[in-house]
Amino acid sequence: MNEKIKQLKQIEQEINTCTKCSLYKTANCGVAGAGSPNAQIMFIGEAPGATEDKEGLPFVGQAGKLLNKGLKAINLNRESVWIGNIIKHRPPNNRDPLEKEVQACKPYLERQIEIINPQLIITLGRYALTYFIPETTITKSHGKLLTKHQKHIYPLYHPAAALRNGNFMKAFVQDFLQIPVILEQVTGKNKSKTKQKIIQTRFI
Ligand code: URA
Repeated sequence: MNEKIKQLKQIEQEINTCTKCSLYKTANCGVAGAGSPNAQIMFIGEAPGATEDKEGLPFVGQAGKLLNKGLKAINLNRESVWIGNIIKHRPPNNRDPLEKEVQACKPYLERQIEIINPQLIITLGRYALTYFIPETTITKSHGKLLTKHQKHIYPLYHPAAALRNGNFMKAFVQDFLQIPVILEQVTGKNKSKTKQKIIQTRFI
């Protein structure tokens, strides 16, 4: 087995038996994250919701369906990127994670990022943005390429927020369609299809 896959599997096993905070007591299972170990892009959300907790996979509910549509619109799919969360067990009733839960979970995401070593981290929602860059807000920063500790961060509104609010949806779609351009900026590569991708203005 490829070394990266082995290391990611090891983290997944640790998550599935993790008792470092109390979330494991109320969750059905851990949701480690999924996708390519060689992904150029990592999407990071907040925490698993009810569907994710049932299936053990990230973003498989309504928000995930919107994410899938966005990926398709820019000629990507779930297998070519990596999708995960800051918190690996579902907080009861989807409450905001507590600081001690974030701290307990932190080493998992840090190791996942180190192994995958993506060119671009796309944060989904206010919570994930604040985790990486506490000094900004989603209103100010969505759709802008930011850099923190030598990592390229591209913040988007959370797809669940987009589904609830038309203005957020508009921004989410616009920002999402810019991903190929942002990726090109950070990799310095000119993908021939980029031009064709960005003239698209909607995917829902
Ligand atoms: N919302 C998140 O932040 N993460 C998921 O995996 C699903 C919904």
